[in-house]
Amino acid sequence: MSITTFQPTKIKKYARLFIMSQDNCILRELNLKDKNIHFTDNEAGEWNYFDYRGRGDKRHKCLIYTANLTYSVSRCSDCGFRDCVEHWGWTSTEMRLTGTSLWDVRLALRKQRFHCKNCGNTFTAASSDFEKNCQISRNTKVIVKQNLNEDMMTEKTVAKHLHISPNSVQRIEYDAIYEGGQYKYQYNFKQQLPEAISMDEFRSANDQFSFIWCDATSIKQFEVLPNRLTKTIKQYFLGFSLANRKRVKHVVMDMNAQYASFIKFLFPNAEIIIDGFHIAQRIGNALDSVRKNIQKRIDDKQNNRAYKIMKSQWKIFHMMYEDLEKTKPYYMRGINEYLTQEQAIGIRLSTKYPEFGQVWTAYQEIMKAMHNKDLSGFEDIITHYTIMGNDMDSAISTFAKNYKGIQNSITSNYSNGRVEGMNHKIKQLKRNSCGYKNMAHLLWRIRQIF
Ligand SMILES: [Zn+2]
Repeated sequence: MSITTFQPTKIKKYARLFIMSQDNCILRELNLKDKNIHFTDNEAGEWNYFDYRGRGDKRHKCLIYTANLTYSVSRCSDCGFRDCVEHWGWTSTEMRLTGTSLWDVRLALRKQRFHCKNCGNTFTAASSDFEKNCQISRNTKVIVKQNLNEDMMTEKTVAKHLHISPNSVQRIEYDAIYEGGQYKYQYNFKQQLPEAISMDEFRSANDQFSFIWCDATSIKQFEVLPNRLTKTIKQYFLGFSLANRKRVKHVVMDMNAQYASFIKFLFPNAEIIIDGFHIAQRIGNALDSVRKNIQKRIDDKQNNRAYKIMKSQWKIFHMMYEDLEKTKPYYMRGINEYLTQEQAIGIRLSTKYPEFGQVWTAYQEIMKAMHNKDLSGFEDIITHYTIMGNDMDSAISTFAKNYKGIQNSITSNYSNGRVEGMNHKIKQLKRNSCGYKNMAHLLWRIRQIF
């Protein structure tokens, strides 16, 4: 630019543009949005610098930016009069940010103070990036919640990762369930109950059991209760209107006599469905317990082929007979022979333990009836079952007691799959943070992670 074309106004304009774009760059880098924050450089012309913060063990290097927060105010916030507000000095605070760098990023912010000539009121400039009386930026709070609930990180890890104290993380996360230090979480009784409800329980804080229900077709709707006492569950569901409770047509659960006792009372139109997985599990356990009993009774364990097969190849006894490999032999560990799966079963059944053969047959028949949705076949097995004097008897008698629920399970497509999946994730959450002591906190986090 030659001297003849020197235009002071234009230079001023370019300088302003330069400063603004500089501000915008830094704002973006620091995850801030407020255009009223104007960054300042030091004598060396640098926009940030390193300094140390904290005492003792906690002393660490921080990346510090300096900025002024100011804007023009046309009206007093108190009396509302126009053109009576004057600048009234500055007040300094240090804000905590989450920038794109791994450093503990701080913002040394000078906030403009204002004074009203009319009413004498003084107030400080506010920023949309920070809450009043809080040094942690709004954006950091969002990231805290994301880290905790989407990534299932522990409170401690999040605190370390974002350079804030674990107490701050707790305050941010559990802000919603406390009001003035008092626990205030309210169940949502306005929601419409789904047609099919899935019920289960899980181990929660302090090794207690807690109750969980969810919509059997999605996990969008669910609730967790601190314990599984009949009183608690009844009280909770009675919070819903009768018309709402009448909407529930199916209740899926495991073979739990406690729940069965109040389902009809709470949900007059509902039928109980026993979860198919639990039926299979119960009868599988019976098969295993009989097998283990026989194993114990075998004296010459070293040379007994049946024992070796029962011990090492127990999985094939749980398979459906149709699914067994009948032609291709393979090397079986434990017994060290080439056998087909059918032959392995045959060795077991042809030996002198007919009891196991009977139990295995009963197991096969029940599984087959369930698989084929064969109601009359199932009824046949239950009614014509002969007492064998082992664990299978109690399994069958449990089935007889829950007969209606099992019948519904065979004919319907509902299962406890969703709620079991949720339980799995809850277990993960607990494992991540090595258990929970505070029940309210655990339940709150469960509500957040789904
Ligand atoms: Zn005023």
